[in-house]
Amino acid sequence: MRAGALVAAAGGFEANIEWLKEYWGPPAENFLIRGTPYNRGTLLRMLLDNGVQEVGDPTQCHAVAIDARAPRFDGGIITRLDCVVFGMVVNKLAERFYDEGEDFWPKRYAIWGRLVAHQPDQIAYIVFDSKSLTSFMPSLYPPIRSDTPEGLAEALGLDPQRFRATLDGFNGAIVPGGSFDHTVLDDCRTEGLTPPKSHWARPIDTAPYYAYPVRPGITFTYLGVKVTKEARMLMADGRPAANMFAAGEIMSGNVLGRGYAAGIGMTIGSVFGKTAGEGAARRARN
Ligand SMILES: Cc1cc2nc3c(=O)[nH]c(=O)nc-3n(C[C@H](O)[C@H](O)[C@H](O)COP(=O)(O)OP(=O)(O)OC[C@H]3O[C@@H](n4cnc5c(N)ncnc54)[C@H](O)[C@@H]3O)c2cc1C
Repeated sequence: MRAGALVAAAGGFEANIEWLKEYWGPPAENFLIRGTPYNRGTLLRMLLDNGVQEVGDPTQCHAVAIDARAPRFDGGIITRLDCVVFGMVVNKLAERFYDEGEDFWPKRYAIWGRLVAHQPDQIAYIVFDSKSLTSFMPSLYPPIRSDTPEGLAEALGLDPQRFRATLDGFNGAIVPGGSFDHTVLDDCRTEGLTPPKSHWARPIDTAPYYAYPVRPGITFTYLGVKVTKEARMLMADGRPAANMFAAGEIMSGNVLGRGYAAGIGMTIGSVFGKTAGEGAARRARN
């Protein structure tokens, strides 16, 4: 049977660790893939190798911090961790590496996968205390818990003295008198600390102490096939393909250069899915 038209909607190459390693090197071995293991970029590769134009930075992807205990693939939404703004985040050297309170979480959650990817062994720990335990949607896995900061460090495999020093430095840098409100860019911040915590900074001082280990959770990659606004694939000679269309992750690089805003993934899939489907149906009918 010969098809009158093709709509490519087979995802990115996020589940293809070898392909990710071409751009990320060995750290990609420690990436967890949030969705299906079948999005290996097989169709994307086939199209690019057969004269369809490429679009998007191959190193760019949607990557969030997910529970390090999640399975390699398909951990889904229940392993995502949204408690960064309530605590401090340290790497395996017990050092902070980014402003946990830079901006509202929906604007910042998708940078934390990349941030963790650049840390030693691609692991980090979100640390908070009993004041924050019920303030966010938890992971499927329970947080690691201890009655003392040193005990928590030991449970995480961190150097207790270094962890204590980082924690004391963080707590000591918090400007007193702030009014905590995680629904606004509040005035709870640090001073003289590098990196700072710009909002929602409260001392982590009320036992029990908790932490979630996190790793980069790759949602989808941005490298894709170039399309026209009619979702028609663009060929190497600059002409649109007569009967080949694309939608979703496989062409997300047309929309996403760097960064992300919540909801864009499904928007790209649905808007271009409708456009590509209509175009393909018209083509097949004629
Ligand atoms: C855990 C998680 C949470 C998300 N949360 C959000 C969110 O809150 N908001 C948002 O906007 N987006 C979210 N996204 C992103 C969004 O789900 C995707 O961008 C969207 O589903 C992509 O649609 P798609 O059709 O391009 O790819 P997919 O839905 O991944 O479908 C691709 C399909 O192609 C199949 N396939 C791949 N290769 C082959 C092959 N060679 N042969 C046959 N079949 C193949 C795969 O099995 C898969 O079923 C989330 C994604 C994940 C994984």
